[in-house]
Amino acid sequence: MVSSELKCSLCLQMFVKPVTLSCGHTFCKYCLLQFFLRRSLSCGLCSSEFVTKHPFDLKVNVVVNNVCRSLNTKMFLKALKTQAKEMKASNLEQKLLKKYPLHPDSCSEVYSTWYREQIGDQSQMNRLQLLYAKFMQLIEILRPYV
Ligand SMILES: [Zn+2]
Ligand SMILES: [Zn+2]
Repeated sequence: MVSSELKCSLCLQMFVKPVTLSCGHTFCKYCLLQFFLRRSLSCGLCSSEFVTKHPFDLKVNVVVNNVCRSLNTKMFLKALKTQAKEMKASNLEQKLLKKYPLHPDSCSEVYSTWYREQIGDQSQMNRLQLLYAKFMQLIEILRPYV
């Protein structure tokens, strides 16, 4: 049984890649990103605003993430896969970039955080492929400034 403390109040499931905001509330990263797209950079529970460079700059709460994974590894990995798939299918990354454009100054820093995490999840993925994707997206971001 999963403790209700380990459930995301947006998807009502056990946390997957949880992110803890400065107000103390925790959500799955994917759920939070969707919330940011629909609403604003605020908490989905208490609505308090918070300061971050960019939605991509959110750091996963590693302890909570590992607790959830060890509680029900099968369920966790399945949810992780589903979320990654949905994120890709819905073009969430691109939509977020449109709503919250990255400042060129913090661009590479935020991107390295974001992609380091993706590499951690998909270690089987070809690194070159990933670098290429990163490069293409950087070009996309910088286009308006060139
Ligand atoms: Zn969730
Ligand atoms: Zn909150």
